[in-house]
Amino acid sequence: MAVIGIMSAMHEELAAVLGAMPDEQRVQVAGRDFWVGHWQGQSVVAVLSRIGKVAAATTATLLAERFGAGAMVFTGVAGGLGTGVRVGDVVVADAFLQHDLDVSPLFPRYEVPAYGRARFAVNPGLGQALAEAAQDALTAHWPGAQLHRGLVASGDRFVCGADESRHLQARLRHDGHEALAVEMEGAAVAQVCADHGLPFAAMRTISDRADDDAHQDFTHFVKTVASRYAELIVRRLLQRWQRAG
Ligand code: SAH
Repeated sequence: MAVIGIMSAMHEELAAVLGAMPDEQRVQVAGRDFWVGHWQGQSVVAVLSRIGKVAAATTATLLAERFGAGAMVFTGVAGGLGTGVRVGDVVVADAFLQHDLDVSPLFPRYEVPAYGRARFAVNPGLGQALAEAAQDALTAHWPGAQLHRGLVASGDRFVCGADESRHLQARLRHDGHEALAVEMEGAAVAQVCADHGLPFAAMRTISDRADDDAHQDFTHFVKTVASRYAELIVRRLLQRWQRAG
């Protein structure tokens, strides 16, 4: 049975996952605590991604190389960019791109050199299973919250200004990318998973609108809402996995 890597961006979310694992053992590598154990009968390794693309890529590489992860699931929070993507909603990514990668004019803006593309898609089957798990959890616990699926933009910057977020969205749109949300890790993990041929899926609870109030909404929200979403949604995903054998 494949080991499933579960990456969380926030301590609070990881704590919720660890609370559900009966037998986790800590293994330290590269200054990170990897928690090896089981959840819902599945072999899992849970870890904090750390914030930003480089840190998250290192964590994902270690999950693949040292811990033999056969698939990865990411949970975190994000700023809402798309119209109607509100605080408390959940975005399940279809694909990621790095909004701060620009090797133009040598390559089209956002394209990752040597890959010939800007977007890294998630695994369709795993993405669909995660979306269904998220919809189940929202319907049962937060009927007012909406599930969105689409493109998520990642970059090494906490976007917290109404002008900045409008500008970011307009720039992406100019090149044909309609992003629902912005965060700081997903595209890095998606690229590492593509390198290793590993299925990847990711969910982000919208913690803020990437506007002038983003930093205020943020901390309180992660503690009270996002960590509960993460635990309930990944639990349902693993239950589906187990049923599917
Ligand atoms: N206060 C936190 C730091 C949060 S950094 C701490 O001390 O740990 C922001 C995190 O939330 C990143 O993991 C990023 O992926 C996500 N995020 C949420 N809203 C965001 C936004 N508006 N812009 C960029 N990243 C955002």
